Amino acid sequence: MSATTLALTIEMPLLEALSSWNVFESLAVQMAKDLPRQALAEALDEAQERLIDSVCGPRWAPVRGLPAPFACPGCKARGDFARKGKRTRPRVLHTAAGKVEIVLWHVGCRGCKKVFAPLLLMLGLAGKRRTDRLTVDLAELGTQMSFARAARIDAQLAGTGATAGQAHNALADVAAILTGPEGPDRAPGTLGAAHPSPDVVLLDGTGVRAGDRKNGCGAYLAIGLTGRSGPAGRRRARSHLLGLTVGEDWSMLGAQLEHLKAPKLVVLDGEVSITTLAERLWPQVPIQRCWWHLPHGLRKAFYADDANNRHVNPRWARDKAKAFGELLREQIRHERTQDEALVAYDEFVAKIPATLLSAHAYLAGARPHTFTCLDPKLRRQLAHLGGPELGTGVLERLMRELNARTDIGGSRWSINGLRDLLTVQTARLLGHPAWTELHRSTHQPNKIEFRLQKFNAA
Ligand SMILES: [Zn+2]
Repeated sequence: MSATTLALTIEMPLLEALSSWNVFESLAVQMAKDLPRQALAEALDEAQERLIDSVCGPRWAPVRGLPAPFACPGCKARGDFARKGKRTRPRVLHTAAGKVEIVLWHVGCRGCKKVFAPLLLMLGLAGKRRTDRLTVDLAELGTQMSFARAARIDAQLAGTGATAGQAHNALADVAAILTGPEGPDRAPGTLGAAHPSPDVVLLDGTGVRAGDRKNGCGAYLAIGLTGRSGPAGRRRARSHLLGLTVGEDWSMLGAQLEHLKAPKLVVLDGEVSITTLAERLWPQVPIQRCWWHLPHGLRKAFYADDANNRHVNPRWARDKAKAFGELLREQIRHERTQDEALVAYDEFVAKIPATLLSAHAYLAGARPHTFTCLDPKLRRQLAHLGGPELGTGVLERLMRELNARTDIGGSRWSINGLRDLLTVQTARLLGHPAWTELHRSTHQPNKIEFRLQKFNAA
């Protein structure tokens, strides 16, 4: 270990009647942006000098055959390097602490004649313009706001010179790190299921404004729930990201899920392709229609019927859908059996005019999967989650967050761009291990000591 000491000089104006605190505060804020990166550059510069001295000998008296703490990138030799001079232009590195500029020393391998900068090699920065930490920071912001705003905020907070384009690229880079390389036929890489045997699997699809097709494309999400230990009465579920596709056939979601252990329950939104997928993956597993989607779907069916039935006004449709949602929750609240709940369901259906064909078709299709969660055996099996019906809330919160980001600016996404966004966003929101590990490794707590000393004290 060795110390680098730098002198900090502040040219303080004399305190007088016109002195303004704002001036000093501005000084402090500006120092917060400039000092860290400048101090780091100086300390690295000195560390580099020492490294080169120890590997090549003093500047005017080169020593041959000295060992090195790095290996030649050409022939892997671990010693006998010669000075090859300093680069004239500093190497610019965009970091989470702003732009760090370092003048690099080069060395030459006496074995294979390769010339390289050992500092970059030793710090894992060879070929990098932007550090991983800045990439992760920008991507994290980019999942919560527009890229332009993400760059602006990062520049304000950390004094980085980030641009919207960098924030955009950072998101793509992080998505690639999380998912690994593309598969055969350039199929996008996937995150991998965050849990091998969840108790409940939620499958949900949503339409997103991406790609060339007028109606956009489909994004599908698979989320697993497991119990989390805690005081009785405050048991909660943990959610895990199992799979994600954007603009791909739903069978691609199946490929991501086929290694999972069969869950105790599948919750889905009722879309035919997703229901088919669930039945194919886990033929024995009971299916529950999501209680958040059910009233929404009914309202849509009312609107489809409206074309022929002018008397079905929006308020009627909305109130009816709301009453339907209330009916579902009541069955849980009053601890009804499946048979009792279905009687209530059928009474509700009977009051809907027979001319509303879409609504009737919708309710008939949903009926077999509406009250699966009332099965006493299933309720016992999933009691540790706080009841099988809670998946609905998890999905609803997540979908709201995803839509909030994808809707920003009303812009249209490329399919790959949106897949990158949803990959990073869902991995972050649901704490996928790949994201947690990437974040942990790029945001380690500082272990290097530093202190500010006061010189020439009067
Ligand atoms: Zn070599």
